Amino acid sequence: MKIDLHAHSNCSDGKESVEEVFRQAKLAGVDVLALTDHDTTHGWPLAAAAAKAEGIGFVPGIEITTRAHVTSPDGKLTKFGVHMLAYLPDPNHEELQTVLRDSVASREIRLRAIFEKIRADYDLDWSDVEMFLPDGATFGRPAVADAMVHRGHFDNRDAVFEELWPDGVDRYYVPNRGVPDTVESIRLIRRAGGVPIIAHPLSRGKGPEEGEPMPREHFEEMIAAGLGGFEIDHREVPPHAQKWLRELAAEFDLIVTGSSDYHGLTGKENRLGENTTSKEMLDRIIAQATGTSPQL
Ligand code: AMP
Ligand code: FE
Ligand code: FE
Ligand code: ZN
Repeated sequence: MKIDLHAHSNCSDGKESVEEVFRQAKLAGVDVLALTDHDTTHGWPLAAAAAKAEGIGFVPGIEITTRAHVTSPDGKLTKFGVHMLAYLPDPNHEELQTVLRDSVASREIRLRAIFEKIRADYDLDWSDVEMFLPDGATFGRPAVADAMVHRGHFDNRDAVFEELWPDGVDRYYVPNRGVPDTVESIRLIRRAGGVPIIAHPLSRGKGPEEGEPMPREHFEEMIAAGLGGFEIDHREVPPHAQKWLRELAAEFDLIVTGSSDYHGLTGKENRLGENTTSKEMLDRIIAQATGTSPQL
């Protein structure tokens, strides 16, 4: 059974409609797909219908943008973005929807700030960016990347990311500050009846290199707040991080998942079903959730 628990549509920064994503999932032999658009549940009703039409299962999810605040032993505070997957939360939970609405609003302001930085160096108009933001879609850098490709500055999204937003370079980057704290988001997802799983933890360029100390305290804090588990099998999680996370998951009896993080055939190289989650782990997610039900 092929279970893929992370995919995006054009309700956020995926290149395909919800219907097309589920059509592609069927073609890829996926039996159960979670739609996890960034900071929105707008695609869920479409996904329920599309999954039914294709005869495959659907797990409602969200990839929530959060910001971690971690104090190291020497007292230094570092902040960084963490993507938190929320499976099966109640889509009508008022506090959750308020946080998502604030995030989406802040994404818009922040994307305009990023656009202004880029416009200082490249020929680009906001209307170019808007072409790649369908009504209701959450704003993200991929729309700017698409606009840069459209204007002929680059060949594809990937090339734009490599040139404008290499890891650790802030020249064209503005963080999203209007998002929940990571630990708070875990508590919020649980209050909404959902199951919080960190998306692509310690992904390439963001976590410690092999041989460097791993952030155990930060993870213990998230686990104490109610973290459900980790998305370990994901192309952006390096092998040494996967090994460390697998051991941590075993120690605390947490859920481990695998997924594609599909963004459409032309959005990113990630292919539906390239990583999968076991039926046992999906069952554990469903057993912990009280917010809404999957459509299997
Ligand atoms: P943002 O949400 O604005 O910070 O943009 C982050 C999004 O950019 C991620 O969710 C990915 O979908 C996308 N992304 C990151 N790196 C790449 C890349 N190399 N090629 C294409 N899309 C990317
Ligand atoms: Fe994305
Ligand atoms: Fe992500
Ligand atoms: Zn994602």
